[in-house]
Amino acid sequence: MKTYRIAAIPADGIGPEVIAAGLQAIETLAKRDGGFTLDVTQFDWGSDRYKRTGALMPEDGTEQLKKFDAIFFGAVGAPDVPDHVTLWGLRLPICQGFDQYANVRPTRILPGISSPLAGVGPGDLDWVIVRENSEGEYSGHGGRAHKGLPEEVGTEVAIFTRVGVTRIMRYAFKLAQSRPRKFLTVVTKSNAQRFGMVMWDEIAAEVSREFPDVRWDKMLVDAMTVRMVRDPKSLDTIVATNLHADILSDLAGALAGSLGVAPTANIDPERRYPSMFEPIHGSAFDITGKGIANPVATFWTAAQMLEHLGENAAADRLMRAVEKVCEDGTMTPDVGGTANTQQVTDAVCDAIRGSNI
Ligand code: NAD
Ligand code: MN
Repeated sequence: MKTYRIAAIPADGIGPEVIAAGLQAIETLAKRDGGFTLDVTQFDWGSDRYKRTGALMPEDGTEQLKKFDAIFFGAVGAPDVPDHVTLWGLRLPICQGFDQYANVRPTRILPGISSPLAGVGPGDLDWVIVRENSEGEYSGHGGRAHKGLPEEVGTEVAIFTRVGVTRIMRYAFKLAQSRPRKFLTVVTKSNAQRFGMVMWDEIAAEVSREFPDVRWDKMLVDAMTVRMVRDPKSLDTIVATNLHADILSDLAGALAGSLGVAPTANIDPERRYPSMFEPIHGSAFDITGKGIANPVATFWTAAQMLEHLGENAAADRLMRAVEKVCEDGTMTPDVGGTANTQQVTDAVCDAIRGSNI
């Protein structure tokens, strides 16, 4: 029997609420299928640690995480700590430190959940957004000169490398190839941004030749938001830069019903380091402690984690259980239900134990 070492970093806000739910579901799967067990180590890293010690995680944090098979992450962000401090203090050092360059964000409308788009239901919106996760606009390069003075200048430099763009493009084409429609949309802003973005377009054309069976097209990011709303059926797999895909995937989550159902996987495709799995949403201060956080995004990312670990049957069973519970209507208020986090989690665990899924 396989044992997977999981590093759980629930962190801030609703992070601990949804990670507890996710772990409960995975434990239930492990018990039912009997093919694997989990060895979970909890890390108390996050904003409370920052307030106590001045750092969200220890200096050797990524070193400590290296020995794990996967990282299961909640969310960072506290009302009394600047957002750039929390993001750069915990989540980005893990993504960038482990070169998790492919950020994979599946979106579809689950049964029983309604899209804000009129007439759009399950089957009409089924996308995977691939976000470049190691460079681009979030490279961390830039600075502020003459801070606070009237002549102050702030720069935020986007860095695109041929290696970085080629590898994410290849990942996206390969993923598109594995899906039934074999169709990829490459998003840029190569009209206004003449350098890195034009390089994206050129590299997309080069890499496309390695995948003759994949159809692809190009979109400018602004027009892409319109296409996502007006013609969701016309899209399948999407690849975009770190910033663009960050924004597009929040929109995708909302179009699929709620940010509370949107998952993400930060993958090191070469498997040199552990990959990290998390819901897309943040720490949601407005609902923290109320027990009503939607755990579906975390269940879905747990399924991504199981798939990454090679436990495909368990991943499928988890998604079938989630879909059954969504269809039955045991859902949290963000998607129009009246259930709380624990009730949804118990319903999903019951469905996992049930013999009919
Ligand atoms: P958010 O995702 O925390 O919340 C946006 C809205 O969606 C809120 O109304 C919230 O209640 C709702 N929501 C989010 N997740 C939900 C869930 N599971 N169930 C039900 N409703 C849910 O984004 P925000 O309010 O912009 O940011 C709050 C904090 O989170 C900030 O500090 C921000 O920096 C941080 N943040 C962190 C991450 C991350 O850790 N990956 C991502 C986004 C934002
Ligand atoms: Mn985001």
